[in-house]
Amino acid sequence: MLRITIITIVVPILSACAVFPRYQPMETNCGENGVSIAYNSPLDAEFACRAIANAKEFVKQQGLDNDVAIKIQFVDRVDYTDVTDGFVHSLYGKYVAKTNVVLISSWNSDYIQNDGRKIFGTPITRALYQSIITHEVTHRLMENNSVGNLSSAAHEFWSYVSQLSTMDEATRAQILDLYPDRVFESHLEINAIHHALDPYGFGIKSYNYFLENGNGLMLSMLEGSFDVDNILQTAGMDFPTPVFESRPLCSPFAE
Ligand SMILES: [Zn+2]
Repeated sequence: MLRITIITIVVPILSACAVFPRYQPMETNCGENGVSIAYNSPLDAEFACRAIANAKEFVKQQGLDNDVAIKIQFVDRVDYTDVTDGFVHSLYGKYVAKTNVVLISSWNSDYIQNDGRKIFGTPITRALYQSIITHEVTHRLMENNSVGNLSSAAHEFWSYVSQLSTMDEATRAQILDLYPDRVFESHLEINAIHHALDPYGFGIKSYNYFLENGNGLMLSMLEGSFDVDNILQTAGMDFPTPVFESRPLCSPFAE
């Protein structure tokens, strides 16, 4: 009798699980054509919709096209395998140029919520988390606005400027206070190696450059007439070429 009872209880449960998988993602388009967000937590969808609106508005303000399909997929943890050493790193998010998909580690995931995650040297908050999504969506928008292949450094320059420009003022002020007086000493510093060695410093310097000088240089990057990575390679420097599709187009490795 007991065995029959157990079977009677367990079989319907298994059947229900088969019909309704626990992690079947939901989808939204934020009420916009061309937007597609796959998520498990409604909170993630809210972050994403606001981040897309922020990135699109920033890009529009620069006189560029923001009307392009945007796909975001939330996962428990975004992984990235470094092609140079084979190590697997975890990321807050990344833009995959090959498929034009933005992958984001979910806000409620253990990965984001545990181990004292930081960004720009400060504990990750909802505002900062949303800014990460804005950063990644800007990569997508810049890919759509560039003539030819946009260099890794140019991609990051644009994405950090967008990320910091669209933050709420209090959060931005807090971050800028942590990185006082950061400026590029030379245009030659706007290169992929600088970004790889000091991603947040690179981001702050990009934002300060934009504040001081406007978007002229940034537009030159999109047209291909300013590309320090290419300049350094042409000059014969031993400069590893970042492979766009396989690099973590930020956000940087978790701290
Ligand atoms: Zn990036």
